Amino acid sequence: MKYHLMKSTKQFISSIANCPGRRFRAFAGTALIAISGLFSPFTSETRAESESAPLYTVTASVAMIADIVDEVAGGRANVEGIIGSGVDPHLYKPTTPDIKLMQRADVIFYNGLNLEGKMGDVLIRVARSGKAVYAVTEEILDQGDYVITDEEDHYDPHVWMDVQGWIKAVEVVSSGLSDFDPDGAAIYQKNAADFTAELEKLDAYARESIASIPESKRVLVTAHDAFGYMARAYGLEVKGIQGISTESEAGVKDIEDLVSFLVDRQIPAIFVESSVSDKNIRALAEGAKAKGHEVSIGGELFSDAMGVSGTYEGTYIGMIDHNVTTITRALGGDAPERGLNGKLLPSH
Ligand SMILES: [Zn+2]
Repeated sequence: MKYHLMKSTKQFISSIANCPGRRFRAFAGTALIAISGLFSPFTSETRAESESAPLYTVTASVAMIADIVDEVAGGRANVEGIIGSGVDPHLYKPTTPDIKLMQRADVIFYNGLNLEGKMGDVLIRVARSGKAVYAVTEEILDQGDYVITDEEDHYDPHVWMDVQGWIKAVEVVSSGLSDFDPDGAAIYQKNAADFTAELEKLDAYARESIASIPESKRVLVTAHDAFGYMARAYGLEVKGIQGISTESEAGVKDIEDLVSFLVDRQIPAIFVESSVSDKNIRALAEGAKAKGHEVSIGGELFSDAMGVSGTYEGTYIGMIDHNVTTITRALGGDAPERGLNGKLLPSH
């Protein structure tokens, strides 16, 4: 995959639509702000790449999964994503071209745990036709008590927020690709092991960074409950205004309760999300201010969608690095401004 410096956002948008290595059917134009000069060709020298053209096509529902497939497939597969930067997967309805893409693909990976609620019917239909369709969370669902549920027993789908959980997803991708293309199995295993080593570093960085936040301030207030796995893995208390799906509505009382919580605990910062409206978060900040407590917007987090394709924040590692670094710094902890790999935007 190659990225070129482009003069205008418009050209960049069309390049995403035409990028042969990784295409997204749906992406939010609003996320394409201040992107000039950010094109870092994110290449991995250790990754075993195929010399020839891609041998088959893989479709992934969300970009976090497309990124894993790109890493593991190492050029043997053409990877196409459906839901891109800035788009909310909970509410996303597949279009006719999406459905055709899924029908054409040789292998499909999706998150599962009802993340892609409105794609379920299509995925079931395509799987029934005999195509290889995998939920990347299927292994952890078998592991007893890993999966978080809400009061109504709905699964929390946001497993990628715990890096150890996403390492399990890498295993599912590696074995799924190996089943489809046994000749590439050794390559997939090596690439998966290399990528997992990077993810272990990211996991350690998240643990250390969050632990550096003063204990009473390790509280994450966001627009919806996307950070439960991160909270459990790295020691945060989380409060989302909306529940684990953005389909739920926030009530006036939910906002009032959270305002009281912010004031009582003197929480310094709350966070907006790139794929969810910031309306409720701004209402919270105003409510706290009316009660004499200034709470800042600590930054924008990537909850259910990564940054723009072709940037560091448009990779899974960059997404988590951005979130961890932003949260840590806003809540009074200690993390380098440019993050784990020195690649984050200075203004994050
Ligand atoms: Zn979500």
